[in-house]
Amino acid sequence: MRCKMALVPQMGLDIIVEEVELDDPGEYEVRLKVMTCTICNSDVLAWTGEHGEYEGPGGAGHEIAGVVDAVGSKVTYVKPGDRVLCSEIRAGCGHCVQCLNGRPFFCENIPPMSFRVPSAMTRLNGERVIQTCSGTNGFSEYCNAYEGMLCKIDDDIPFEIGSALACGFMSGFGAVLNRVKVKPAESFAVIGCGGVGLSAIMGARYSGAIPIIGIDTQEIKLEAAKKFGATHVINALEEDAVHRVKEITGGPGVDHAFVAAAGKGIKRTAMDISADYGQVVVVGHGHHRNEFMEDINWFELLAGRKLTGCVMGNLTLRRDIPKYMDMYRRGMVDIDGLLTHRFTLDQIKEAIDDSLHGALKNVVYIGEEIPADKLHTAPLAGQKVSADA
Ligand SMILES: [Zn+2]
Ligand SMILES: [Zn+2]
Repeated sequence: MRCKMALVPQMGLDIIVEEVELDDPGEYEVRLKVMTCTICNSDVLAWTGEHGEYEGPGGAGHEIAGVVDAVGSKVTYVKPGDRVLCSEIRAGCGHCVQCLNGRPFFCENIPPMSFRVPSAMTRLNGERVIQTCSGTNGFSEYCNAYEGMLCKIDDDIPFEIGSALACGFMSGFGAVLNRVKVKPAESFAVIGCGGVGLSAIMGARYSGAIPIIGIDTQEIKLEAAKKFGATHVINALEEDAVHRVKEITGGPGVDHAFVAAAGKGIKRTAMDISADYGQVVVVGHGHHRNEFMEDINWFELLAGRKLTGCVMGNLTLRRDIPKYMDMYRRGMVDIDGLLTHRFTLDQIKEAIDDSLHGALKNVVYIGEEIPADKLHTAPLAGQKVSADA
């Protein structure tokens, strides 16, 4: 079928929105009518090639919520009309060794996340569009997705909340609950207070951590960190983060140093702010060439420090999302507060520019109109920054 999508004609060029041809879904796939797709920093890094180079036109968008439009012959979980979110993390087959060990996110029977491979979309000039950052391209009116990437969302959960749950929220909140496993009164710091970092702060607060330290270089994000539960914030451009974290913790550093920002040297800082017997948990990645850490002193590990990571909150998708929906419904987590501005698909460049200038998480409305009460009236973050400059 024909549908409109956002793509870059090739790596390094500007995003355009144009009509493409979408294949029929495969036997284990569904076709989704995309209602909303929120912007994750990974979309930006994947599109520009920071996550890895690709040849040909590229699409992005992986925080997807929508309605099932058509199903392949072997799909059993959903039917047309079902409301779903579509995540990069797979639900798992339920019977391989990893699934039986409680790690469905490493399921051996479901295709792994497929980055930088041809998608189901073809430009009208015949070029196949690459999916740069997930198993599909969500900045599109329609997309195909593997059934195992879906989780149903309840009727009272807005699509934009489903979108935010599909990556950003789970990657932060899920990592704290499922991987970091913070105990009450343990100390916690997060480097990077974007959508993932703020969700981690919510997880740390929910787990009873104290202090909770937010570290970033943008004031707008540090203000948000305080709102979401940080007891202390550090602007790393103005203060020596390592010195300050040690001061706040009375000397040793934090029990849990969470890395939700990409960039050379950040993981070293995380090691430096973690206490002996503490742990560093990496949840994001930046340029694939900058992700090596060659400056670990083994004495740091002899001191009991752990260095680990967590992909997509190590979620058991269809167990955890229903809980998160209920926590949202009860006001236990503030997902609305993560969402900054709403844009249409045709405004996607503006939406991304705003994201790069301090917006926490922007929403692209595709299959439905932006609700009148959610149209932004205040200046965009990007405009505020350029006005100050
Ligand atoms: Zn993401
Ligand atoms: Zn499995």
